[in-house]
Amino acid sequence: MQTNGKLLDELSFEYIKKIGKILISLDGNKERTDFNRGEGTYDKIISNIKKIREQGYDGELIARMTISQDFPDLYEQVLFLINSGFDSVHWQLDAGFYKFDFDQNKFSEFVEKYNKSVSKLIDFWIDEMKRGNVLKLYPFLGISESILKNEKTKLRCGAGHSGYAITQSGKIVACPIMNCIKDFYAGDIKNSIPENLKKFSVSSPCDSCSYLDLCGGRCLYWNKSKLWPKQGDELICLTIKHLIDELEKRMLEIKKLIDDKIISIADFDYEKYFGPEIIP
Ligand code: SF4
Repeated sequence: MQTNGKLLDELSFEYIKKIGKILISLDGNKERTDFNRGEGTYDKIISNIKKIREQGYDGELIARMTISQDFPDLYEQVLFLINSGFDSVHWQLDAGFYKFDFDQNKFSEFVEKYNKSVSKLIDFWIDEMKRGNVLKLYPFLGISESILKNEKTKLRCGAGHSGYAITQSGKIVACPIMNCIKDFYAGDIKNSIPENLKKFSVSSPCDSCSYLDLCGGRCLYWNKSKLWPKQGDELICLTIKHLIDELEKRMLEIKKLIDDKIISIADFDYEKYFGPEIIP
């Protein structure tokens, strides 16, 4: 279940306990979450999470962060969430999804700082592995699993090939964000056979990118809608390439930890296509 977490306390535990994973939108500490989502949001979510844990909820609680262009301090915010009791974290850059919010200087500065923060977080992630703990930081987990298993990926959220959304009128569509775009209708619930749903794949620039097999193409909506100018999208891709390069650099270390049985390759397993995009 994906939720903003604000009404979790109104759902009977009888139902909550049946949900294997709950993805909750929050962006880090109180200051950051309330800045993005309104005053009081953080306290409400944390109180609701505490309540369901006390009731005995033992499923996975995933913090689903939005990283805004004003705050590149990923490392600090992820650590905060891990220390606040979240089992796992996923994040997405708020970049390239709106036509009028690209500022070259501001975003270039963000990318530089964000990339440094990613490197610092990878250091922390590997240090935890040395203690036998593979934290479920989904962007790291998904990419590393593919490198370790030598697997190629398509769009990592599954949009348009393995995961679809159903609109209120019964249309089956490539992705929830595209629910009103007829070009991305794949069928409908009354007449379509699941195996025969229309499939969609990413186009330029991803289809000729050397990182495609590990990246998968970030986001179908972003790839098709091209809301930012080329130089903006290239800056977004710099963050992806940095993330992949940094993880590739650490693979020998990770493989040694697996060989020494401090961690296991099974620690990198995760349920595919349950929601997060993996590529931020
Ligand atoms: S790095 Fe950028 S261009 Fe390359 S596959 Fe990923 S999203 Fe597409």
